[in-house]
Amino acid sequence: MDILAHALWAGAGVMLAQRRWPVSPRTAALTLALAVAPDLPHLVPILGWSVFGDGTAAAVAGYANAIPGQEPALPSMVQFLSHHLHCLTHSAIIAGVLTLLMWAWLRSLWIPLLGWWSHIVIDVFTHSADYYPSPFLYPITRQGFDGVAWNTPWAIAINYAALAAAYLWLWRTRRAPRHRAAI
Ligand SMILES: [Zn+2]
Repeated sequence: MDILAHALWAGAGVMLAQRRWPVSPRTAALTLALAVAPDLPHLVPILGWSVFGDGTAAAVAGYANAIPGQEPALPSMVQFLSHHLHCLTHSAIIAGVLTLLMWAWLRSLWIPLLGWWSHIVIDVFTHSADYYPSPFLYPITRQGFDGVAWNTPWAIAINYAALAAAYLWLWRTRRAPRHRAAI
């Protein structure tokens, strides 16, 4: 899914959670950051190639908006690094191992990781077999689930309509701030 929608869904999730549990501003910000972060590391090799190598800004933009089969040609090392960084950040197995390690270290779930999990789960269903299936079982397999490609125009319309409905509902059902009873 696009990065803005990832942030907005995570934001809605945080707002809903705040109704039940105290969520500090720091935890909320980190959760949001981890919800968008998985789509960033794989751009680093491409940006590096354009800054320090002979990649062009047009190639970087072409990569960011690529459709299967029409990606710009990349040096094989850049391609390799980018591909595997994308797989790492979209793998439920990698996220599961890190979640358990953090749990063992902190002796409780580190809540911001839920932002990362939201990204992984959403991407599984919003990519299709012919639109970069999300490699959620990496490194076991790079195969993914055949969902609905998020960039299909009607999928974008439904997604943003659902986001608008979610935020409208959150706004309409917000709790009125409590006032101290005047004496
Ligand atoms: Zn993603």
